[in-house]
Amino acid sequence: MTDKYLLRCDDCSYEFLLKTDSLSEADVAIDNQKFTLVYYTCPKCNKIYRVILKDKRYEELAEDLERTKNRIRKNHGSNNFEFARVLNGMVRKKHERLRNYLDRLNKQFPGTFTFVVSENNQKDKFIKYLP
Ligand SMILES: [Zn+2]
Repeated sequence: MTDKYLLRCDDCSYEFLLKTDSLSEADVAIDNQKFTLVYYTCPKCNKIYRVILKDKRYEELAEDLERTKNRIRKNHGSNNFEFARVLNGMVRKKHERLRNYLDRLNKQFPGTFTFVVSENNQKDKFIKYLP
């Protein structure tokens, strides 16, 4: 499912339509740690808007949540209601843990991101974190 949002750039006031399936991902290094930035850009001035910043631990927690959701799908129709209840409780807790983790991580790095062109190769663009 694709959602569309009409957005206005904070910097240049340009209005543009964002589709949720057109988000970009890029590797970003902050304090020698590796992160993945999910973002979109203003089509006019190229300002980077962060959707989320995630790291390896986030991926692990997300996979763990998916595994539990799969168990619910497998258990579905087995009439094992007690087990279903336990699994549903697990999903709720894991979902909350994931959301809290993401909150903490993003509050830890409240700065902005910008494109930087490499000095050696003008075509080489990378994303830099500005605290
Ligand atoms: Zn803009």
